[in-house]
Amino acid sequence: MKPKNQPRRKFLINSTLAVSGLSLGSSVLMSCNKPQRKANEKPKKESLGVALVGLGSYATGQLLPALQETKNCHLAGIVTGTPSKAEEWMKKHNIPQANVYNYDNYDQLAKNDDIDIVYVVLPNSMHAEYTIRAAKAGKHVICEKPMAVSVKECEDMIAACKENNVQLSIGYRLHFEPYNLKVAELGQQEKLGAVKNISGAHSFHLNDPKRWRVHHKMSGGGPLMDVGIYVVQGALYTMGQNPIEVSAQYGKITKPEIFKDVEESIDFTLKFANGSVAQGTTSYQDSGNFLNGEAENGWWKLQPAYAYGGISGETSEGKMDFPEVNQQALQMDDFALCVAQNKPTRVPGEMGMRDMKIITAIYESADQNKPVKLQW
Ligand code: NAD
Repeated sequence: MKPKNQPRRKFLINSTLAVSGLSLGSSVLMSCNKPQRKANEKPKKESLGVALVGLGSYATGQLLPALQETKNCHLAGIVTGTPSKAEEWMKKHNIPQANVYNYDNYDQLAKNDDIDIVYVVLPNSMHAEYTIRAAKAGKHVICEKPMAVSVKECEDMIAACKENNVQLSIGYRLHFEPYNLKVAELGQQEKLGAVKNISGAHSFHLNDPKRWRVHHKMSGGGPLMDVGIYVVQGALYTMGQNPIEVSAQYGKITKPEIFKDVEESIDFTLKFANGSVAQGTTSYQDSGNFLNGEAENGWWKLQPAYAYGGISGETSEGKMDFPEVNQQALQMDDFALCVAQNKPTRVPGEMGMRDMKIITAIYESADQNKPVKLQW
């Protein structure tokens, strides 16, 4: 029987999903006119193999189903420290034992040609180690956001990928989502005039003190690292430029029994060289999910802005209407294509590091209660 996760054979070239004038590449990797290969040349794969590292809620709930929709890559392997999960995934998703790793034998991925891309979906403090080890094993890497817990770690990850000649991408799925792409177009191309103000919030209720997200050693920070990063990202892709100054204040702690180690909430302001300002808020004791922009001749609003689906938006010109997409499938397919065609990803490690610099400055500003200037 053909395994369920067997790469689907498609021979389309450059079919694109055009969204609001921006193009989301969705072509597969080979043409039907197969050229003759040299004897010592490895055949090009039609679909690249992805190994998920860490089978927690995002890997299981979002990436696994997305990998059933991808065209340029497929689920080929898993890395887990839990033998029962390994058994379950092998059975359910037809993964051969040879493609199942744990955190100790992870480096042996180097010998496995079924796996081209390693997708790191672990707690934030583990991103650097597992990205660097994957790079040393010669695998291309997608690392979840936030890229790491310090700028130094980001530098080391980028250096390891360069040294080992592999590509590095960050799981910034909204760069493949039509409503957010439209906001980037409106802002960067000044379709409604120059942007004056941006505001955004991303918050949810976290009440379990055992979650790694509220332990600084594992998370590197609270809601800012986890979901506030989307607001930072939203401001930056609206503006298409980096902020020159940040200022921030921590919110009141309402649940000291949970938030001993990381902030419960934080408000921040990003200032841009042209005088535009972005105001963001993020909390583990609130709900909020929007990205708004105000330009010289109009405005736009996304709400929810950062969800996996059901994003909704309007502008001063009317309601936005885009097709629902699988963000993660588009993101992984695009990276597979970048790897296959040796072209740069739109969400590279350098972008993750840029965001880590901004997040570090936001924490510094809140800690010192004064604005922090950023040099680029
Ligand atoms: P999770 O807690 O559900 O899963 C984490 C996984 O890591 C689990 O399988 C756990 O067993 C494993 N793990 C290995 N060693 C561990 C250790 N020492 N402590 C704790 N867990 C350990 O977390 P998640 O929500 O899946 O988040 C994982 C990563 O994905 C995070 O970096 C998060 O920011 C990111 N994420 C991204 C998105 C997105 O939309 N791009 C959404 C959710 C999470």
